Amino acid sequence: MKDYYSVLGVSRSASETEIKKAYRKLARKYHPDSTENSSSDEELFKEISTAYEVLTDPQKRSLYDSGVDPLSQNSNNSGAFTADFANIFSDFFGGFSFNSGFGNRPTEQTAQVRGEDVLVQEKITLEESIFGAEKILPLALLMACTTCSGLGAKGGVREIVCSVCAGAGSIRKVANSLFGQVVQTSTCPNCHSVGTIIQNPCSDCRGYGAVKGHKKIKVKLPVGCTNGSRVRLPGEGNAGQKGGTHGDLIIEIVVREHDVFMQSGNDLNCKLSVPVTLAILGGSVEVQTLYGIATANIQPGSGSGTIVKLQGYGTPKSIESSARGDLLIFIDVHIPAKLDSKQLKLVEQLHESLKDNKFKPELESMKVGGFWDWIKRIF
Ligand SMILES: [Zn+2]
Ligand SMILES: [Zn+2]
Repeated sequence: MKDYYSVLGVSRSASETEIKKAYRKLARKYHPDSTENSSSDEELFKEISTAYEVLTDPQKRSLYDSGVDPLSQNSNNSGAFTADFANIFSDFFGGFSFNSGFGNRPTEQTAQVRGEDVLVQEKITLEESIFGAEKILPLALLMACTTCSGLGAKGGVREIVCSVCAGAGSIRKVANSLFGQVVQTSTCPNCHSVGTIIQNPCSDCRGYGAVKGHKKIKVKLPVGCTNGSRVRLPGEGNAGQKGGTHGDLIIEIVVREHDVFMQSGNDLNCKLSVPVTLAILGGSVEVQTLYGIATANIQPGSGSGTIVKLQGYGTPKSIESSARGDLLIFIDVHIPAKLDSKQLKLVEQLHESLKDNKFKPELESMKVGGFWDWIKRIF
């Protein structure tokens, strides 16, 4: 009878935890499909597994301690090492939380996969873009399955090591070729390279640990969320596989067109129609901007297309920034369509008095004086 304690390198008084720890270390080293090193040894691995099986079973251990071989009746023990190995490993997965990990490859062994990031577009008004907003977004995404608490399996053992690849995730085949032996590695068809399979998959999520669902989330959009800017909310995306962490939620901002103000970078453009007399005489006009009432000073003799700039009345230059672009007001001279006889007389007088001016109407290119640019920007 083998000395199982020395096989695992533990003392006779070793606790179950110590035995498991020692076994894990050796199993990883000598597993026939170990990808970590070249010291795999199938015979030795069987011995280690047997020692582990005996010493972690209180009944078998006490039989062994009393000098009786607890495996003597079990004639097919050595031939069924893969199945035993799977059962042995199931102890680990039953006793270890997913987050505590397993060896050096926690995600591989526990098959936890982080959830995907979710990108959603949110349309906001120009005002919301400038002043920030609190939004409630309805989302359709993967959420942790409540039936199995996201574990993928109902109660008890969550998952067991794949019996086909013994947890390696891949299968090695040695083929004889003209040039000698060739080792081929292929993905395990049973566990799809995860290395573990759900023993008792949850019927609601089919072992995935997450299901499609709907939820609403309250989001505070910061000041200065311009068109195309993105707000990332960590951990608010899709639930991960089998209890894996959530992905992020990324909100892409789309600023709706404003009825009055057109965005041009951080500047805002708009039009202001003024009576022809005001355009001639100049004067100030109170205008309703996004930041309240402001005064637009119109210089005497302002023709259509003249720009009155209100500095700092544009959009924030960046998120949470106090620096802002400008508001460019394009003057549009309004000619009254109907005048009474008295008004017409006054205009006639004005027309007569202007005859001394050198101004002579003639055809010009539309590019002259930026008039065409102005037409394009306004209309
Ligand atoms: Zn489930
Ligand atoms: Zn497998």
